[in-house]
Amino acid sequence: MKYCKKCVQPDTRPGIKFDEDGVCPPCRFAEQSCNPINWDERKKILDEIVEFGKKNNVSGYDCIIGVSGGKDSTRQALYLRDEIGLKPLLISCSYPPEQQTERGANNLANLISLGFDCISVSPDPVTWKKMMRQGFLKFGNWCKSTETALYASAPKFAIAYHIPLIFLGENPAIALGDLDVGSTTWEANRMKYCHTLKGGPEALLEDGITEKNLFWYRYPLDEELEWAKLRIVYLGYFIKDFTRFKNAEIAMNHGLIIRDDPPEDIGDTYGFEALDDDFVVINQMFKYLKFGFGKVTDQESEAVRLGKITREEAMERVKKYDGKCATRYIKRFCEYIEITEEEFWRVAESFRNKDIWEKDALGTWRLKYEF
Ligand SMILES: [Zn+2]
Repeated sequence: MKYCKKCVQPDTRPGIKFDEDGVCPPCRFAEQSCNPINWDERKKILDEIVEFGKKNNVSGYDCIIGVSGGKDSTRQALYLRDEIGLKPLLISCSYPPEQQTERGANNLANLISLGFDCISVSPDPVTWKKMMRQGFLKFGNWCKSTETALYASAPKFAIAYHIPLIFLGENPAIALGDLDVGSTTWEANRMKYCHTLKGGPEALLEDGITEKNLFWYRYPLDEELEWAKLRIVYLGYFIKDFTRFKNAEIAMNHGLIIRDDPPEDIGDTYGFEALDDDFVVINQMFKYLKFGFGKVTDQESEAVRLGKITREEAMERVKKYDGKCATRYIKRFCEYIEITEEEFWRVAESFRNKDIWEKDALGTWRLKYEF
């Protein structure tokens, strides 16, 4: 496990490849942003995309934005409507009531109240829970199924309503270094092949779940996307300050409510991400067991690139807070997917990657390769 020479990102992230100087892709992309990126040229590309959306508007909507009401979707919706002049339709795929936080519901309501049309789809919570459970037990990843539903809903509505454009936020290759996405530009038509969505829901077809239950989990086929002439676009590619910090600032100025839990409870130093669900804290802890990093690594790596903190300060915070998860979230998660806490910890330990973890003299697990 090696760390990027410039930020705090390890090379254990799926799909990442450091260059010969030991620097991660996002750091290289960020360096370029002060020099060779031609923002005027990018603006011209965006203008052409916007023109395409307006010209092919047959429904009344130029584009779709998949939203949760969080910082990124709030910024995207405001930017596309107010700065670019598009008419967007918002699509939200809602969590079941046991998973959805009140804060998340309020944030989505807040976004809609800023003057947007929004369609919410609520996939059957019985199937939802079963698939979450399967994802957790088999892959140590409860969101394997829910992420496919979150991403598949926007193109489904785009095809059904003949809406030509979908905007997503940041390209994961540029922001995080997941090169499996297959694009380092604005083009997102192949995003269904990224690490998160690869494989589809097939792996979870047990426990009485059949094809009939999977409509909302199926990303449209390539042929369907082509037939619909759908263009899926990473908006972040065109906006110089499209960072988690700026997006949060803008969204908070427009009513976004963030977490006030301490970082050691939520493995998150800023509290402005994934606000609509608390089980995300567990997923980040699992990422930490499998790959040796969690949310704090992502946040502080970006903070270092933006010059907000030094690499040393970032290391400090990563060591202190990454992968942390308060017991109350684990208890609630176990209740929800109906397993015991003993079973939870058995699964957790089974996913601990022994290549990167070892026990110290006192029997406490430690990451083998610290900074
Ligand atoms: Zn880096």
